[in-house]
Amino acid sequence: MNPGSNSIDLTGKAVSNGIGIGSATILSTKSTTVRPDKIDQEEIKSHLQKLKDSRNLLLSEYEQLRDESHLQSAKDILEAQIQTLKDPEVKKRVQHKIESDRLSVGYAIFSTLNEYIQLLETSGVKWASDRAVDIVAIRDEWIDVVSENRREITMSKGDVIFAEDIPPALMVKISRIKVAAIVMEKGGDTSHAVILSQSLGIPCVINTHWNRYQVKKGMLVIVDGLDGHVIINPDDQQLAQYEERRERDLSRVKESLKWAKKENLTKCGKSFFLRANVEFLEELPKLTTHGAKGIGLLRTETVLFETTEFDVKEQVEFYSNVLKETKNESVTIRLFDAGGDKLINDKSSEANPFLGWRGVRMLLDEPQLLKKQLEALYRVSGDFTGRLKILVPMVSRLEEIRALKLVAEEVRDELKRQKIKFDPSIPIGIMVEVPSVVMMANKIASQVDFFSIGTNDLTQYTLAVDRGNEKISALFDSYHPAIWRMIKMTKDAADEHNIPISVCGEMASKPEAAACLMGMGINDLSMNTSAIPNVKAVLCSHTLKELNELSDRVLEEDELEGIHKLFSKWKFKE
Ligand code: PEP
Ligand code: MG
Repeated sequence: MNPGSNSIDLTGKAVSNGIGIGSATILSTKSTTVRPDKIDQEEIKSHLQKLKDSRNLLLSEYEQLRDESHLQSAKDILEAQIQTLKDPEVKKRVQHKIESDRLSVGYAIFSTLNEYIQLLETSGVKWASDRAVDIVAIRDEWIDVVSENRREITMSKGDVIFAEDIPPALMVKISRIKVAAIVMEKGGDTSHAVILSQSLGIPCVINTHWNRYQVKKGMLVIVDGLDGHVIINPDDQQLAQYEERRERDLSRVKESLKWAKKENLTKCGKSFFLRANVEFLEELPKLTTHGAKGIGLLRTETVLFETTEFDVKEQVEFYSNVLKETKNESVTIRLFDAGGDKLINDKSSEANPFLGWRGVRMLLDEPQLLKKQLEALYRVSGDFTGRLKILVPMVSRLEEIRALKLVAEEVRDELKRQKIKFDPSIPIGIMVEVPSVVMMANKIASQVDFFSIGTNDLTQYTLAVDRGNEKISALFDSYHPAIWRMIKMTKDAADEHNIPISVCGEMASKPEAAACLMGMGINDLSMNTSAIPNVKAVLCSHTLKELNELSDRVLEEDELEGIHKLFSKWKFKE
């Protein structure tokens, strides 16, 4: 069938699990550029009319797509696109460029939306730069409409989609066709394309570089969404191997869901807690089917970003819905981990944003924003006593904790004065994600109610590897011996002060890492909900003694490669 010698093996970053096999379809989503053409006075009217018509056409298309979509997360994404198109400020700016600057409608749209894109891209906040992709998508589609040059996109069931990046509206179209897999050149692991491919169960690999000589329409492709391999034109043996793996994976997923109902106990009876990392309300039903014990990390920044006001009422509604839908389990809500209100704000552009105005630093500089969020959380707590925990992001010094606790006290005093019912003892804990906190963990543990280790940022800051930089993505490895030692130091400090400790970074979702964390005595892990059954299966199938042995050996290793070898042998033994 296949000659065998022509297969090309590319690697990228695996972001949505599973094996996809199908024929290649290349989507040209190359960004548009527009020349700054000037128009004459008498052309202004027709350009304003084009602006109106194109906006109305796109709005009706997006609204139709939204109404027809069965997936709530897709509906939300399209709604955000619709809101951008409807934004009166966008309209005002584009009109001004046509009327006063005498720019063509195409260039007026291009340059206006570029101003928003640039602010998001330079904000330094990962999810915000991922959102910039959405505005790029609107910009390009809008320009295509005004220039009457819309791209024809054809794809069929079972295709493997190759694209530079996939804008949300296109992703929604893709979701209707059962594509086999997605391979992207760009994409951030929190981009909408990735979030949707995960919720749709489409294997997806990002940061993969190919050229048009390597991939042609119709070529057979295998995508491994677990290891990040993309094999173009595989030989018969590779094909047979992956087909077999795909079958095994499918039955394993079915099998693993059975674990969701089992008790959270190791083989020798030691209990553990597997909780969910959540961003959207639509993720909540999955908590029950996948056996999550409440929420270990509720990221609030996307929700706040998508609202027009950081309104207490809107926040109360969102947090109450989350608490209602998580039965009687505990919910850890992280304070806003971003910089700048709505990020359409000059304060957001910084030379080194990841080392900049983020998390608690921004919150303490924006007391109104912080107070509103705390007020909403305390108000909600009145109806859900004992279930809420507050998590503070990006702490790097003790003083920040003291300052934050003072603001929380002020908020409580005000609510008391207003005779509003609230839970006065909501635990306030911190993300351990900056190395200075690990070094000071012993002191800090006496000032907080719990620790939650964020291995994503802890890895970035400890190894000096930008987590969003695709050029050095191979260096971003949370299994580095330094990270394991830092986790152990943090755990010892927590034990000494008798405070709970959990891990909520990506690491916890890998069964072998979860096993090692449990072996180190950390029995509270939070992860993306889909990962829970597999992690549970591994923890339930081992004794604590076996898990202790694994973590002892990991902590003895000095080299990253040694840790990977240990884990792969351990996985193999399972
Ligand atoms: C982390 O840094 O590990 C974490 C869980 O937070 P986020 O990925 O949202 O920065
Ligand atoms: Mg973090």
